[in-house]
Amino acid sequence: ESGAGIANPEIWPAYEYPVPNQPEDEAHIARLLSSMTLPEKIGQLIQADLCCVSPEDVREFNLGSILVGGNSGPYGDDFAPAPAWLSAADDFYHASVDTSDGGAGVPIIWGTDAVHGHSNIIGATIFPHNIGLGAMRDPELIERIGAATAAEIRVTGQEWTFAPTVAVPQDFRWGRSYEGYSSDPELVASYVGAMVRGLQGPADGDNLLAGPYVLASTKHFLADGGTDNGVDQGDSSISEEELRDIHGLPYRPAIAEGVSTVMVSFSGWQGRKMTGNQSLITGVLKERMDFGGFVVSDWNAHGQVAGCTNESCPQALMAGIDMYMAPDTWRDVYADLLARAETGEIPMSRIDDAVARILRVKMRLGLFEAGAPSTRPLSGQYDLLGSAEHREIAREAVRSSLVLLKNQDILPLASGSRVLVAGEGTDDIARQSGGWTITWQGTGLENSQFPGATSIWDGISSAVEAGGGSAQLSPDGSFTARPDVAVVVFGEEPYAEFQGDRETLALDNALTGPYATMQRLREQGIPVVALMITGRPLYVNPALNLADAFVVAWLPGSEGGGIADVLVGDSSGAARHDFTGTLPTAWPLTPDMDDGALYDFGFGLNYGSTANAWADLPEIEVESAGDTRVWFANGTVPSSWSLLVNGTGDEAQTRITGVPAQALSGRVRVTAENFVVQEGARRFAVAEGTSSIHLRNFNPLNLDRETNADIMLLTTLRVFDAPDSAMLGSAGDTSSGMINFPMPQ
Ligand code: BGC
Repeated sequence: ESGAGIANPEIWPAYEYPVPNQPEDEAHIARLLSSMTLPEKIGQLIQADLCCVSPEDVREFNLGSILVGGNSGPYGDDFAPAPAWLSAADDFYHASVDTSDGGAGVPIIWGTDAVHGHSNIIGATIFPHNIGLGAMRDPELIERIGAATAAEIRVTGQEWTFAPTVAVPQDFRWGRSYEGYSSDPELVASYVGAMVRGLQGPADGDNLLAGPYVLASTKHFLADGGTDNGVDQGDSSISEEELRDIHGLPYRPAIAEGVSTVMVSFSGWQGRKMTGNQSLITGVLKERMDFGGFVVSDWNAHGQVAGCTNESCPQALMAGIDMYMAPDTWRDVYADLLARAETGEIPMSRIDDAVARILRVKMRLGLFEAGAPSTRPLSGQYDLLGSAEHREIAREAVRSSLVLLKNQDILPLASGSRVLVAGEGTDDIARQSGGWTITWQGTGLENSQFPGATSIWDGISSAVEAGGGSAQLSPDGSFTARPDVAVVVFGEEPYAEFQGDRETLALDNALTGPYATMQRLREQGIPVVALMITGRPLYVNPALNLADAFVVAWLPGSEGGGIADVLVGDSSGAARHDFTGTLPTAWPLTPDMDDGALYDFGFGLNYGSTANAWADLPEIEVESAGDTRVWFANGTVPSSWSLLVNGTGDEAQTRITGVPAQALSGRVRVTAENFVVQEGARRFAVAEGTSSIHLRNFNPLNLDRETNADIMLLTTLRVFDAPDSAMLGSAGDTSSGMINFPMPQ
């Protein structure tokens, strides 16, 4: 069955690492295993989400772990204050060790998505997302970030973070690209050990809870960043060598540093879901890579394994999953595993191995001696959340992550100057923090939910004012007093996981609005600094052309104000900090992934770089594949027109069924909101006088995730002068690119 996602472990290098546990732990594990009943063992294999589990359930079923998925706080409250987290941790702990009914009393561990700082907690330090850290090339700083994050997690009583993500994104249309440090496996690998050490302490460390540490989890095993077309939870068709050399590489330093847990990816390889892939989880990860901790599955990912449902998937356990993340389905998964173990369908040896792995990690943690969460070191020290010391580490990371792509003698700004700060993301901490911040998507938040944080506006205005200059905040770029220079903040809005998947590397149309502001400022003779907030490299040639300087700030987090440390100099204009960041991946020339790089991996200017004459970059004028404009070049259209949205190739013909008949009118521009191809009529009329049709959120395929991969090749727009008549114009055999229809004479 080779070529069907079955790995050959022989081609993976074999390693051996010492077990960090104390020798007496093994005896303790053996004693526990022999005293535990089968139901108690099965309970250890289950992780339930706080949405759907009570302390009473934990006591009754001897559950191994709970989590709060990235989208809620304890008991479903997104905005629960830190003390509520700690008291919930105590409640679950006490329930888990309660043996009054004769239970096994194995203490529970609580996992949380502290993926850029303790990022679910109001007031915590929010570090830059990993893609920004990738620009720093600084493993030592990574370790300090890990340590600060661990300390903040410990304040609220959790023991385990689902981090670091060690994805090596190969296609930045993937909505989780920003969770990876870089597209370069060596760079990712150079960080991973440092992050694991920061979180867990020394590789041979024992009794983590006596120190300021938590358990780490490298995720998502394997090739989460290698899916075809960058589809989240998709499939990867790469070779086993690429699987090993690109995506497997970062797991080695993680395991060498004693990482305690590995989370398996939702995605698949060669048509087989990772969660059911025994050759990779057991054969490669546990055997060849000598991973001695436990393997946890992702959120109901077992339900995607062939032959499984969310409620039943013994295949995952047999493949090597030790703990099921069964957030809302845990009762069914528990009952199903128990029944199959009772009949012998699942061998006891596999159950004992999984339980032993979980117990080994719990013992290394020191969980059996630690007492209730609130009694452990750092617990309840709320002043550590967002402490000045932690924020300074984050601010240093912000400074080091900035990448300068263009500077025509405008940066650094003299702090004595008059600075206009424009753009929607300027004074918006949630936006500068991205997804996985307080809520799963990082949306629906206000600055008041980030006490102690510093927005980009806060940073620039205080630096400028400290030097005797003045700053004006103006999202739309208008001004009352003429500025010397404008900083225009623009870029992506927060998203997480599949919600961030895109069809091209174009910025969504709505997000290119600030280009007009840049253009206007430029026409008024005001120099423009473009400051981009983004989770990934995107096609932004128009902004690069319009701006005098262009800075990529990635997703800087709660200390985004630190951008000013580099952008704003002293009152004479001398830099206070130079740019040191360089691109963690190539920057695209066009919205199309395959058109090559505008800037290579490792590019980044600094204040010593010579400013070369700027030759304008080619511009492709459709902002995104999901948002297509049809322009009628000569202004008015003489007669009724129709527009056919069609595909190329047989498959397209069958999938694209047409567009709804819809009369459009208007003199300059017509906008059809949420224009979606549906069954039915294929054409719509465009009234006389129309000069452009703007299809917003145009979705040519009513996408389902399976067909996502094909879209780039399918969309063609054709214009006819009357229904069923000859075609007058056609453009775009890809869905990116401005479609210009010359007026027929
Ligand atoms: C994500 C994981 C995350 C888990 C728990 C999943 O949807 O893929 O990265 O750790 O949820 O929130």
